[in-house]
Amino acid sequence: ASGSDLIRATLFPGDGIGPEIADSVKQVFKAAEVPIEWEEHYVGKEIDPRTQSFLTWESLESVRRNKVGLKGPMATPIGKGHRSLNLTLRKELNLYANVRPCYSLPGYKTRYDDVNLITIRENTEGEYSGLEHQVVRGVVESLKIITRQASLRVAEYAFHYAKSHGRERVSAIHKANIMQKTDGLFLKCCREVAENYPEIKYEEVIIDNCCMMLVKNPALFDVLVMPNLYGDIISDLCAGLIGGLGLTPSCNIGEGGIALAEAVHGSAPDIAGKNLANPTALMLSAVTMLRHLELHDKAEKIQNAILNTIAEGKYRTADLGGTSSTSDFTKAIIDHL
Ligand code: NAD
Repeated sequence: ASGSDLIRATLFPGDGIGPEIADSVKQVFKAAEVPIEWEEHYVGKEIDPRTQSFLTWESLESVRRNKVGLKGPMATPIGKGHRSLNLTLRKELNLYANVRPCYSLPGYKTRYDDVNLITIRENTEGEYSGLEHQVVRGVVESLKIITRQASLRVAEYAFHYAKSHGRERVSAIHKANIMQKTDGLFLKCCREVAENYPEIKYEEVIIDNCCMMLVKNPALFDVLVMPNLYGDIISDLCAGLIGGLGLTPSCNIGEGGIALAEAVHGSAPDIAGKNLANPTALMLSAVTMLRHLELHDKAEKIQNAILNTIAEGKYRTADLGGTSSTSDFTKAIIDHL
């Protein structure tokens, strides 16, 4: 293909195991002849005054321009006077929904073999607004902000996702019996949006009951939408249902059609640089990016190669009980393409 046929996408290899697993994705994409040209951006060593963060203005511009990207994990450098890298990305790019598909991997045995759900987390407000202060000594206050605008936006995304992916039901997860104003408003917005999607079943589930149901029978759920903190916790619970952090992908959806895919896990400093990391989560995140770009053939081909490699069981990384290195596992995926 000539340069002009290629789709440009931003790639942040990130920290820790990030560069190793990003390299796996690049190799697999190349072998599968995916028409993507990566624009690589690294986390800087100095704070960029324009972003007040180690992420440069140019990096953010790259995502805004390309509208698609893949992000490795980023460790938050210790020190004052800068913003967390992930928070910078979320705020600057207005990444309002975090979508985490979670399904049982055929051939990799866990307690359940019928998990197939999507958690959609509101990503910009709620308990993560960063508005905390001390009232008097011994008393602190943290503000949970829920707005009609952000709630409608994430609810609309959830119903649109359900409809366009052939899903049947959306469950709004809440604690409105106690958080009457905040979660109450969130639910009200979900109900309003539900009315525009009569073909999708809508239900409301209190978060404590939701946890119990997820652990007892995760097949009860389809698409779940919820405020920020609940989404953070529930989506990790769901990752645990299917085999852990090495496997679970996600995609951040932003204003103006931006999609920035990333694995759920962090930079795993304990195994970084040792060729031990499981690249599956980042690779499946890259697959969600391909689906966003409607490159469904390539997405299907790569996803099948990953799942078949894991199901075959010959090459698995240590987190899945195997002895393969990152590079051997990557090579096995390429052989399965
Ligand atoms: P972590 O997810 O990095 O690691 C937790 C455990 O899971 C470790 O034992 C690690 O070895 C293992 N693990 C994670 N990913 C793996 C993979 N792909 N293959 C095999 N094993 C894997 O969580 P942490 O240790 O709490 O955080 C480390 C750093 O990452 C921190 O600086 C944190 O702020 C950052 N972090 C970043 C993101 C992000 O960029 N989105 C998310 C979470 C944590």
